Amino acid sequence: MPLVGATGVSPAVSVPPVSVRRVSVAPPRVPCMVAALSPSRASDFMQCPLLYRFRVIDKLPSAPSPAAARGTLVHSVLERLFDLPADGRTIEAASALVEPQWQALLEGEPELADLVDATDLAATASWFGDAIALIERWFTLEDPTRLEPAERELYVETDLDGLTLRGYVDRLDLTPGGEMRVVDYKTGRSPSELFEAKALFQMKFYALVLWRLRGEVPRMLQLVYLGNSEIVRYSPDEAALLAVERKLKALWQAIETAAMTGDWRPSKSKLCDWCDHRALCPEWGGTPPPLPEGAALLALDPRASAAVVPADD
Ligand code: SF4
Repeated sequence: MPLVGATGVSPAVSVPPVSVRRVSVAPPRVPCMVAALSPSRASDFMQCPLLYRFRVIDKLPSAPSPAAARGTLVHSVLERLFDLPADGRTIEAASALVEPQWQALLEGEPELADLVDATDLAATASWFGDAIALIERWFTLEDPTRLEPAERELYVETDLDGLTLRGYVDRLDLTPGGEMRVVDYKTGRSPSELFEAKALFQMKFYALVLWRLRGEVPRMLQLVYLGNSEIVRYSPDEAALLAVERKLKALWQAIETAAMTGDWRPSKSKLCDWCDHRALCPEWGGTPPPLPEGAALLALDPRASAAVVPADD
């Protein structure tokens, strides 16, 4: 399968500073607890330590979003489409998968039904119509009759000197020579520079894990933006992935320091516009709830720090 040259280059992803208050407390004792991180939680901490705290320690839920549910549905359809023989992977076949895949998602997460008002026929038709439009747009970017993914919704996990890295890869293609192309679908628009670093960081995270697992650096990382029909490609090399490795180690140290000190300071940015927790954020006039008992342990609990969601969009 031919691979195309890189068109996207990631600026450096910075780790926000976490002040180290010198306190005379012992580090939290985490017997038998494995340190683990997912790209989503790593990204949260890089964006804002307080956001990481809200999600991992306080476990504040994010507002349910019809767009996010539609993204999950589209990912599901694109995954299942490859169950069909190559010549059957048509727009019509993909569209026909939308309703049954939605029902399958509802079986696992019945609360998703609240996002689509089934009594409002026009709104429901519009919601499904938008999902189908995204799928149709994908057909203008890729030809599924010519693709045979090696893996779909691939769970990956590896150990990075005591830190477990884990996540889900939307699609993994292999060239006849065995070279890897990592593909991630995004149902939104291709990002500004501000968000591109975040998206590429996630892809480099997967590339690092795959390199560790398979001994080969993926040849291509490919982000497929269905919102505006754009593909961003990046060819990683060992130096870039070693930089990600160093960044992740430093990031985990910063998380441990924040857990020890309880210093989860906010980091205000344009990304606050998409934060569900502004009402509790000091940067926006709010007051966070008191840290719960055992906050340090909660901060490092791998069930939260490495929470992974298939089709995380
Ligand atoms: S509003 Fe901004 S600064 Fe506050 S928690 Fe959210 S991301 Fe952090």
